[in-house]
Amino acid sequence: MKMRKTKQEIIVPDVEVADAGAEGKAIVRIDGMVVFVPFVVPGDVIDLKIIKKKKNYAEGRALAIKRPSPLRVEARCPHFGVCGGCKWQTLDYAAQLRCKEQQVCDNLERLGHIDTSQMRPICGSDNIFYYRNKLEFTFSSKRWLNEGELRDENDPGAVGFHVPTVFDKVLPIENCVLQRDPSNQIRNALRDYALSHRLPFYDIRNHTGYLRNLVIRNTSTGQLMVIVIVAERNDELLNPMMEYLRVTFPEITSLLYIVNEKMNDSYTDLEVSTYSGQDFIVEQMPRYGGGNPLQFRINPKSFYQTNSEQAYKLYSFVAEFAQLKGTENVYDLYTGTGTIAQFLAGMCSHVTGVEYVEEAIVDARLNARLNGFDNCTFYAGDMAKVLTDDFVAANGRPDVVVTDPPRAGMHEKVVEQLLAIEAPRIVYVSCNPATQARDLQLLSAKYDIGRIQPVDMFPHTQHVENVVELILKEKN
Ligand code: SAH
Repeated sequence: MKMRKTKQEIIVPDVEVADAGAEGKAIVRIDGMVVFVPFVVPGDVIDLKIIKKKKNYAEGRALAIKRPSPLRVEARCPHFGVCGGCKWQTLDYAAQLRCKEQQVCDNLERLGHIDTSQMRPICGSDNIFYYRNKLEFTFSSKRWLNEGELRDENDPGAVGFHVPTVFDKVLPIENCVLQRDPSNQIRNALRDYALSHRLPFYDIRNHTGYLRNLVIRNTSTGQLMVIVIVAERNDELLNPMMEYLRVTFPEITSLLYIVNEKMNDSYTDLEVSTYSGQDFIVEQMPRYGGGNPLQFRINPKSFYQTNSEQAYKLYSFVAEFAQLKGTENVYDLYTGTGTIAQFLAGMCSHVTGVEYVEEAIVDARLNARLNGFDNCTFYAGDMAKVLTDDFVAANGRPDVVVTDPPRAGMHEKVVEQLLAIEAPRIVYVSCNPATQARDLQLLSAKYDIGRIQPVDMFPHTQHVENVVELILKEKN
């Protein structure tokens, strides 16, 4: 391989991008070394600059795209190339799906020693733009500068997204193609209002400024929640600003604010105040097999799957693999706000949901009541501590266990307990095929792997969900 080496930099001309890789970056292989390169797609021929060399891999940047890949498409978003959000946007969607399938296969085969020859094709998203029902924006007194740009002392900063790995600077977002209207209009209007009224954006290093964050959530039925997060209690600043939003966007059904006087941006432990409208929105989801839709009341801090249409498809695969006939006792582990539990409740005898966020369990109970289910029980607690022999004795041995753990997968103790419980059927939903593969391998001591169904919830990102059916092996 031809390499030009100057004092500080290594440049490799005319190399072909091999693969899509971790963190949404693509992979270039040079003399056996893997180089991660953002914003290029497999098949591109590029001039590569090596930026950072580590022991087992390197980080690089494309100086020029010499020959574009046949898989390359035009980026729809004006912020592509700087914003870290949708790194696969210039890769044709069909190719994105193939990469995600490959990611699931590679992980299950290499880490789980699982035969994936019968894996089903990935279920793609019908909408590949405007699919998110929630976005969180940050106000910062420090705008992210593009290469060569100098900081202007009078620059008020920006509202938008953090640039990856930079905690104090924000990329200004003018038009994000992930959430439907009026998401962009609300963010831009609030920004312009703040600028014209001299409301300073927050400085996360020095802890000065007023406006901190903006959260926008919408539902498929047109409900709209807007949460404005400010740094201090000051009704003279707050009220006219909230009134401006209320009057300008009458479609907002839930206009809320939070005063965050803490050092960090997380607001899960803070009080939410209502300026106007209700303090929740209600999402609807079709009922599996028909009937009136399920209703899910979503509070400002509640988790709800961010791609509502794909969530229905994901849950439908869960229902299919659960094979319920009406008499089963079901456990829904890592139930969140109890959405999978309620999706299945009409098709089985009883569902028990477990989740460690107490507020989510409060929502789960409320929603089950609203949906008319009296066969759901929800517990708040850490899975490794809750799922004990006593728990099983109290709630009955499950016929089907659905488990949907966070990215880290299941705690070893939880896997051990599942092996001890010996439910005839497990449906494992995962947002991380690597930890799923690890857990599946452990479960394969007693379970056969059945159907495998990857689902794409997040087009233009490397994220992939995977649903796996496990069937208890017959005892000899
Ligand atoms: N099944 C839900 C949520 C899945 S996300 C849905 O489809 O909406 C994973 C959930 O696991 C989150 O709600 C998270 O709060 C919860 N969780 C993470 N670690 C946990 C633990 N150790 N014990 C119990 N719940 C946990």
